[in-house]
Formats: sequence, C-alpha cells, structure tokens
Amino acid sequence: MLYFHVHNPLILHKNRPQPDDAAKELRKRFKMRGLVTADADVVRMMDGDLRLRNGYSELLPVALKADGGFYSSSAVVTPQGWEALRSEVRGQIRRIGTDITDGKVGIEPYRLGKKTACQHCPYRSVCQFEPLGEEGGYRHLRPLGKEETWRLLEGGDSGERHGE
Ligand code: SF4
Repeated sequence: MLYFHVHNPLILHKNRPQPDDAAKELRKRFKMRGLVTADADVVRMMDGDLRLRNGYSELLPVALKADGGFYSSSAVVTPQGWEALRSEVRGQIRRIGTDITDGKVGIEPYRLGKKTACQHCPYRSVCQFEPLGEEGGYRHLRPLGKEETWRLLEGGDSGERHGE
C-alpha cells in the first residue's frame, strides 16, 4: 500500500550540484510512503537495487539488514497487522455510517497536538465550526508511537486512543 506523489519538485542547492547529486536528491523527493509487506523476498523483488545500497531503498520506505530483518525505521506490516488494520478501518467506516444514519452528526473535528482536521478542509466556509476556549470543541486524540499503534490495533483496542 504505497503513496506516490506525482509532482515536479524544485531542488534548492547552495552551489550548483553535480548531475548525480541532483538526480539523487530528486529521487529522494519521489520516495514512496506507505506500508510494505514484511517479507524480505518481496521487498527485494520490489526494489532490485537494494543490494547496491546496503539494503537502503531509494524507492520504498524500507531498509533491509544483511540478515534479512528490517531496520526499525522501515514501514512494514505483517499479514496479521495488515488484517488488523483492514478490520479497524472497516469497523471505523461502519461505525461512522451507523452514527450518521442514527442522526449523530455533531461537528467534532479531531485535534492531535497542533494538527486539526480543519487545517486543509475545503468545507471550512460552510460548516460553521468555531473553535472556542482552550479545548476548542475538538475531539482530542492522544499521540501514539508506531509500536503502541500496532499493539492497540492487533489487540483490537484502538478505541483506547479516543478515550473510549
Ligand atoms: S472545517 Fe468543518 S467540516 Fe471541515 S473538518 Fe473542520 S469541522 Fe469538519
């Protein structure tokens, strides 16, 4: 599950870069984000140049150790984790749909640290949400690390994040 940003990035450099350096910098901007199956053979097939770069992919969000394991910075998911994630997303969509048909349509955008759902929302001018006071009427989410997120997902406890 990968996201590829189709764009034409502008490379800013103090001095005139060598063509190889510029190409390398450019490739970095096109590196995909997302999740890759935690299987070294699959990853090697997806990026045939891994061996040339000591296991560090310029294309995928993964880095493979010599023993076939993944570095902790890798965005990889086990089949069990993937099932847990799919199940959680389906459950959330089902819950949202049921809430809507039950008439629960309160305006409760999330807030996670400084980020809010409203920041880039195109409906801002019509929804009339007015953040008030310190709490601002937001649904506050607790920041979670990668490990805790997977633990909650795989344990079926992701509601914990919402204080449920
Ligand atoms: S601007 Fe309105 S519709 Fe958009 S996320 Fe915020 S509360 Fe929701």
